[in-house]
This record gives sequence, structure tokens and C-alpha cells, in this order.
Amino acid sequence: MPKYGDQNYKQADFINHELIGEILTKTEVVTESQIASVIEKAKHRNGLSYEDIAIMLQATNPNHLKMIYNLAAEIKQSIYGNRVVLFAPLYVSNYCVNNCVYCGYKRDNKFARRKLTEPEIREEVRILESMGHKRIALEAGEDPVNCDIDYIVDTLRIIYDEVSENSNIRRANVNIASTTIENYEKLKAAGIGTYILFQETYHKPTYEKMHPKSLKGDYEYHLTAFDRAMQGGLDDVGAGVLFGLSDYRFEVLALMMHNAHLESNHGVGFHTISVPRLKKAEGMELKEYDHLIDDDTFKKIVAILRIAVPFTGIILSTRETKEIRNELLHHGVSQLSAGSCTGVGGYKENEMEEEIKQFTISDERSPLEVIKGLINDGFIPSHCTSCYRMGRTGDRFMSLAKTGAIQHVCQPNALMTLKEYALDFGDEELKASVDGFIESQIEKIQRDDIKSKVIQGLSDLTDGKRDIYL
Ligand code: SF4
Ligand code: SF4
Repeated sequence: MPKYGDQNYKQADFINHELIGEILTKTEVVTESQIASVIEKAKHRNGLSYEDIAIMLQATNPNHLKMIYNLAAEIKQSIYGNRVVLFAPLYVSNYCVNNCVYCGYKRDNKFARRKLTEPEIREEVRILESMGHKRIALEAGEDPVNCDIDYIVDTLRIIYDEVSENSNIRRANVNIASTTIENYEKLKAAGIGTYILFQETYHKPTYEKMHPKSLKGDYEYHLTAFDRAMQGGLDDVGAGVLFGLSDYRFEVLALMMHNAHLESNHGVGFHTISVPRLKKAEGMELKEYDHLIDDDTFKKIVAILRIAVPFTGIILSTRETKEIRNELLHHGVSQLSAGSCTGVGGYKENEMEEEIKQFTISDERSPLEVIKGLINDGFIPSHCTSCYRMGRTGDRFMSLAKTGAIQHVCQPNALMTLKEYALDFGDEELKASVDGFIESQIEKIQRDDIKSKVIQGLSDLTDGKRDIYL
């Protein structure tokens, strides 16, 4: 088995640019019947080749697109049900030694950099907890001096330690720069959920152009981060592409190759895929980018990802509008951020309206508004964090997802966390409507033993117990 340790990471050759190029050329012109037959094949869920995926990406005929969306919705429903997991980002440091062309935090942008002190972290966490959040994604720029691994580990300790009257952060995912096995071991020991790292673009020439003269500019080191993370004991890893930097068809195929590489070398692929689209940020203009994707293409990408990797969660951030987010929930998205601030100390400063952001956001609704919107659309907003607390991570999680057994915990936990949220953070409107909604969802639970556990859990929550999960 190849080792992707710190010394030999140059072995990374699993994003086969030549092969992707050949597939894209071969599928440049496809017939309607080719597309229809791949969609038919996808319905049987026996796996798709890279070429199949490339063919599906060429679909433009409204009938074919409808079939793709319907299949994605069917797959999503059968694996995840109608729950939607909510989280919020927490930006703790905007020090960054990199100069990513597209990012507001790049080192060429001159502004007063800072990282949160312990009292500031506690204050941000308290604000997040007062919004009802239980799951966060910790975000920091790369700066080995000003924001080293010990600062991150200490921040995690503070986050888990800061318990408010009605709430606490139960799962902290971490999105920090590619690092060493030893540092990943420290993250593991600190009790993180998923380690998230966006490749930004898998297309090496574009990657090098977008990350000039910087630590992050080492394509191979960045690409092999998940190998080191897994060697360091982190078995839930979350990938992402910044759509808009390079040809989206290349990116989707490369994502699949990366996932296949992890599966064959470590026994488990991506836990999640994030699908950010390039947005305006300080020091960059969108018109300088040739590969921006429109809403229809974006929807198609999300639906095809859902079909291609059914057991991988798909995450959408507040970069997208409320309308797009609502639509994509039907096509495959399973996690949403809500009430996000994308600046360091942003939750506190939002109250003072003087934030410096990494990028602009489009959905500015509060978590309560997002939750009400989800319920209106028939989705169950979920603050569930149970899997990693129950040891359901890595291949153990995947085997439950693949047999469909994960639904037996996802839906109950979604309902119980919704009830907890309504009791502690709901307004009169939510409190008045939530019980009827929960009852209608309990009806759909097929196993009687699970139904009883949920009913008992709901009653315990009403009696004052908290943090009940399966
Ligand atoms: Fe720094 Fe990350 Fe922004 Fe690049 S994308 S400049 S690494 S914060
Ligand atoms: Fe996620 Fe596991 Fe909770 Fe389902 S049960 S929502 S997979 S943490």
C-alpha cells in the first residue's frame, strides 16, 4: 500500500489529468440516447464509471435534467430521509501567509489581522449557543507562527468547555490548512468531528496559478492531506471544490478520483463534500474568472454528485441564496450552515455591524428563520451530533449508510433535537407549530421500537432532560 507520509508525498499521482482530459474529450459530444442510458444505469445504483459521470454532466435536455433531479431526490430520500443537518462556521483567526487569488484573507490584502483570545472565543461560542447551534466548523487561515496547531487545539478545548445554560457545542469540525500526521493526531486527540479541507481546484496548472508563492501552493502536499489525516487517525474527512476556478467537469471527475483513492487506500472515502461557488471577495473581481457556473449548471452538479456518491453528505453554505439552497435540498444537499458570520469575531461584531469577511454571504436569515423555512418545506431541521459521539465514524458510519440503517438514527435524532431547539430557542410561532409537525413525522417511522424511543425522548425533553440521542 502506498504511504503518503511527509517525506514521500510527491508520490501523489491519483488525480490523473491525462485520463480526465481523454474522458472529457471523448464525451464532448454525446447523443441524447447515451445520456438517457447512463441515467437508466444510475437508477440501478450499481456504480458509475468516470465516463458515465462525464456523460451525465453533458445533459441539457429538460427531460434528462428532470430525470437526474428526480433520481437525486429519490437517492437522498432513501438514505438521509428528510432531515437537514444545521451548523455554523466559527472564524477564529484571519492571519494567513498564503495569497490565494480569490480570497479576502490573502496576505496582499492589508487589514488588521487578528485571532480570538480565550475570552473572545468564549463570547463567540456563547452567541452561537444562544442561536441554538450544537455543531460548528472551526475556520482559520494558515499561519504557522500566529495560528499554530497548539492554538487550534486550545481553541477546541475552550469551545467544548464553554457550556451555556441551555446549550453547548457538541461537535466541532475543523477546517484548517494541510498539515503533518503529528498535527492530525493532535486534532484527533482534541475530539474533532470531521477534518475539512477544500482542494479548491484539482486542476494542477490552475491550482498553481491561484496559489502563488505560498505554502498552500504545493499541490501535492495539499492533495495528500487526507492521507496524512487518516494516518493520524481522523477517519471522517470532508472535501470541497471552489466551483468557478476551473472547468467544473474536470473538478467533478477529480473529486471522484480523490474519493476512489481514499477508499482503496484507507477503506473509506469522503464523509462530506462541500460545494462552494466563487463569490466576490476583497481584492478580486469575479469578471476575471472564466469558469463561473450559472445556477442551472450548479444544480446539475449537485444532483450528479448525489447520484455518484450517495453516501457522502453534501454541504451548502450561506454563500448561496435562500432560493438556491431550498431548491438544492431537494436535489441532494444534506447539510446547511445557518446564521453564519464569515469574519473573525463576526458574531459579536455583527451585533456592532463592523465585520471583515472572508467572502460575501447571500442567505442572511437567522437560524430560527432557516428552521421555520425548512419545516414549511417539509424538511426536519436537525442539530444532531450523535454519530461521532457514538463512535459511528469512518467505515463504521459508511457501512450503516450503505445498508440504509443510518436512517433509523438520523430521523429520530433530528426530531428530538428539533424539539430541544423549540423548547429552548423557539419563538411562540415555532412552539405552537412544532409538536404537530413532529407528530406527523413520527407517523412515518416504521420500526415500533424506534418510534417508542422517540416518544419517550420527546417526553423526557419536555420534562427538562437535554441532549438525548440514539
Ligand atoms: Fe488563506 Fe485560506 Fe484565504 Fe487561502 S483561502 S488566503 S489559505 S484563508
Ligand atoms: Fe449525522 Fe449521524 Fe446524526 Fe444522522 S445520526 S444526522 S449521520 S450525526
